[in-house]
Amino acid sequence: DLIFADSLSRLGTESAFTILARAGALAAQGRDIINLGIGQPDFKTPEHIVEAGIKALRDGYHGYTPANGLPELREAVAADLHRRHGVEVNPDHVVVVPGGKPTMFFAVLMFGQPGVEIMYPNPGFPIYESVIRYSGATPVPIALKEENGFAFSAEEVLGQITDKTRLIIINSPANPTGGVTPKEEIDKLVAGLQAHPHVALMSDEIYSNMLYGGREHVSLLQYPEIRDRLIMLDGWSKTYAMTGWRLGYAVWPDSCVEHVTRLCINDHSCVNAATQYAGIAALTGPQDAVRDMVAAFDQRREVIVRELNSLPGVSCADAGGAFYAFPNITGTGMSSVEAQDRFLDEVGVATVAGTSFGAWGEGYVRFSYANSTENILEAIRRIRGIL
Ligand code: PLP
Repeated sequence: DLIFADSLSRLGTESAFTILARAGALAAQGRDIINLGIGQPDFKTPEHIVEAGIKALRDGYHGYTPANGLPELREAVAADLHRRHGVEVNPDHVVVVPGGKPTMFFAVLMFGQPGVEIMYPNPGFPIYESVIRYSGATPVPIALKEENGFAFSAEEVLGQITDKTRLIIINSPANPTGGVTPKEEIDKLVAGLQAHPHVALMSDEIYSNMLYGGREHVSLLQYPEIRDRLIMLDGWSKTYAMTGWRLGYAVWPDSCVEHVTRLCINDHSCVNAATQYAGIAALTGPQDAVRDMVAAFDQRREVIVRELNSLPGVSCADAGGAFYAFPNITGTGMSSVEAQDRFLDEVGVATVAGTSFGAWGEGYVRFSYANSTENILEAIRRIRGIL
């Protein structure tokens, strides 16, 4: 038998992919499945972006690019961050990677090892806890509670810092809750971190374009006092419906750029060139497709929150960001996993159990509303039938 490294047993997963595969297998058997499980826009990548990728291939851009990304792409990222957040970013601090995930993996590998503590949101994107454990570091959860609109409490985060803390991961708007952390909490966190200059902060802002109900995104880049230890993650997957292209970036502190570039060289050399040209077109071209998508998500959000609240035993907070509803299902008497399994097996609606996002997600189920209003209404109708 093969003898695997111990670290392998510590690596977790993202259950949304397991559910996607299960839903796919059921659909292949002829079942009519509505997928509210996976977190990806149901829209196609806007045409001018696709064309830019095709043109790059036709024009012969088939080789390696610089490991940290094409200079034009990194400049386009800096210009986009100026446009959206009003901040100055040095394009040399931007490192382009294949999607949002590699940044979190590299950030955790850069700081994580046995004896070190890394804080992460719980319930939160499952890859954070997975890679923290993989690195050998101790994961320290930041509790996200429904009564706080699933926002973190700066006081709680700061109170958990020890001399072993090396990295704090935050995510707003958040997966799986849709929670948006108010500016006051972020102000407090940044102010409190001044007393802990050895602690790095990774702010996952992949949903920075998806806020509703008059909420505005607060980027951690807007706090100059933390720039020397901020890793700000964003990317194209959600904003431009480009999940399968694999394109993302982070703005890194000066002291980290060389380390992360070396991780890129060891891991993947560079993102494929054509995708990077598509990424330039996305950032520099018209943004109306983004506005249209966000407007559609906003309408569906109203529908899904209203409909979920009409189900017996279910209550759903209107959290305000990303494209997820995270209803509390404790009143149904089912556990998260039971609800997820019954919704899929009995009525063909794919969702993801709250516990897939950490132990503190028990009592909740994640519904992605990156799907048509008709499908959302039909999904809720089916679920109503078994409650
Ligand atoms: N960060 C969060 C919070 C996410 O929800 C996701 C995707 O679901 C990602 C990052 C990763 O996105 P990508 O597909 O670009 O790796």
